[in-house]
This record gives sequence, structure tokens and C-alpha cells, in this order.
Amino acid sequence: MVDCLFCKIVAGEIPATVVLDGDGWLAFEDIDPKAPVHVLVVPKRHLADIGELGTDPAAAASLVAGIGAVARELGLSAYRTVFNTGAEAGQSVFHTHAHVLGGRNLSWPPG
Ligand code: 5GP
Ligand code: ZN
Repeated sequence: MVDCLFCKIVAGEIPATVVLDGDGWLAFEDIDPKAPVHVLVVPKRHLADIGELGTDPAAAASLVAGIGAVARELGLSAYRTVFNTGAEAGQSVFHTHAHVLGGRNLSWPPG
């Protein structure tokens, strides 16, 4: 059993502001938001990164459905979904999560 922050949030052992609780996924507000809307969508199963997520097609499909559900719930017409993979790309929590960012203009390409 890995010692994992997001597994503890899924288990309710660490509090989070939950946006939606879905079938196989949980969406909660990022503790340090980078945009007016900054929600993390995580699989309930511990999968370290998007590569591991890809080995579980049901979990991957569920997570994508969760991203769409969050966007609908929050009325987001435009948003960015980011998966950081690996510490050098900014991943700091090794339980895969989609960042859903919105509520302001998001430049592209990112800086
Ligand atoms: P990463 O850097 O791995 O792509 O994203 C991890 C995200 O988790 C960061 O945006 C960070 O602000 C968020 N985070 C870290 N610790 C907590 C926490 O205890 N609760 C919540 N809700 N978010 C957290
Ligand atoms: Zn985990």
C-alpha cells in the first residue's frame, strides 16, 4: 500500500473541497489554484501517472467522463486539461490527476 496524498483524499482521511464524486473518479478543488477554476480530477484507484492510467482503460474512460462532468457542473465553456507526468514536467503528486483550469483567458502555447 503506497502512502499517497490523493488516495487519502479519496478515502476521506484528508479533507478536500469536493466538486463531484463520480463512478471511479473524484473531483476536488486544488489547494493552490492557478486559475479562478482549478479542479483536480483523480481516479479512485491508485495509478501513479497517465502512463499507468492507460493500462486501465475503464479507469481512463471514467476519468475523461469525470472531466466532462466537472466542466458541465461548473458551466465551463472553455477550459484546459493538464496531466503533468514526471517531476521534471512538474508532477509533484504521484497519483495521476487531471488539472481542469478555467475561468479566465488561457494563453496558448503556455509559457
Ligand atoms: P502536480 O504538481 O502533481 O501536477 O499537481 C499537484 C497539485 O496538487 C498541485 O496543483 C497542488 O496545489 C495540489 N495539492 C497539493 N497538495 C494538496 C492537498 O493537500 N489538497 C489539495 N486539494 N490539493 C493539493
Ligand atoms: Zn494514490
